[in-house]
Amino acid sequence: MFPDLGPRSPLGYTASTIARAAERRTDAGFITALEQDGTARAYAIGGELVVLKKTADGLDPLFTPAEARILAAPAETVFLGCANGGGRFGISLDPAGVQALKTRADLHVSDLRSIAVQGLAAVDHLAAMAEAKALLHWHARHRFCANCGQPTKLVQGGWRRDCLACKAEHFPRTDPVVIMLATAGERCLLGRQSRFAPGMWSCLAGFVEPGETIEHAVRREIQEEAGIRCGRVAYFASQPWPFPMSLMIGCHADAVSFDITVDRTELEDARWFTREETAIMLLRRHPQGLTTPPPVAIAHHIIRAWIDPGGPDLA
Ligand SMILES: [Zn+2]
Repeated sequence: MFPDLGPRSPLGYTASTIARAAERRTDAGFITALEQDGTARAYAIGGELVVLKKTADGLDPLFTPAEARILAAPAETVFLGCANGGGRFGISLDPAGVQALKTRADLHVSDLRSIAVQGLAAVDHLAAMAEAKALLHWHARHRFCANCGQPTKLVQGGWRRDCLACKAEHFPRTDPVVIMLATAGERCLLGRQSRFAPGMWSCLAGFVEPGETIEHAVRREIQEEAGIRCGRVAYFASQPWPFPMSLMIGCHADAVSFDITVDRTELEDARWFTREETAIMLLRRHPQGLTTPPPVAIAHHIIRAWIDPGGPDLA
């Protein structure tokens, strides 16, 4: 008998309440007016850190743009879209200045993983914070033209950078990453990286390479990391993963070989787990304390869907 896994939890960073209003990004006057309106709100981000305001109702990640810019030295502002009738923005702040805000009693400063896992902010802010963090990260690393080396300028609310010298237009990027569960009958393949929390096992994952399909990337990564060959690959779901700017593409894969050879440069270990053992790891009731990632991560939902078909809850 498999244990009851209980209700599904939402997949993190997916339940966006923001209408991106992409058709208005070329209208600088519209964006400026939105930002100057009293309903405008901004997420304040310094590198990996997000600033939250302490309120009587808990932690609030929204500031007025003016409030956000005096927290620490501001850099870029990006237009995320509209929500609740007002413009929503992301404002990047000097990371050292944001780190220093940790001493302020009226603020809470944390990284976006902790905010999601610990539920520090309302779940409907997570996707917007992911959008802001990934986009601002891209800006921080594209201040100069990749074509000619001259400075570039933020335009279209942050959805493009233009080189004034060679006229090249640069667009924000998302890095596709495949993350997958190889299965063979009643067993699935999980791996451990040395940076994982003790006892945690997860899906294998890796970047999609140029010229490769998702299916090829899934088979190649499993072969490289664990020496297992796979046949059929099935898409499951995707998740924005703003660490720093990835899109996780979740898949299941049918293994057609079973002898594991672990690539120790990528993984600490990899092994087969039975369906029953995996279920008690998901429930965090494993006698040796073995676990799978929390529901905020797509790995949890990929693993769960193999045991208990369905989901994820995209909210
Ligand atoms: Zn250029």
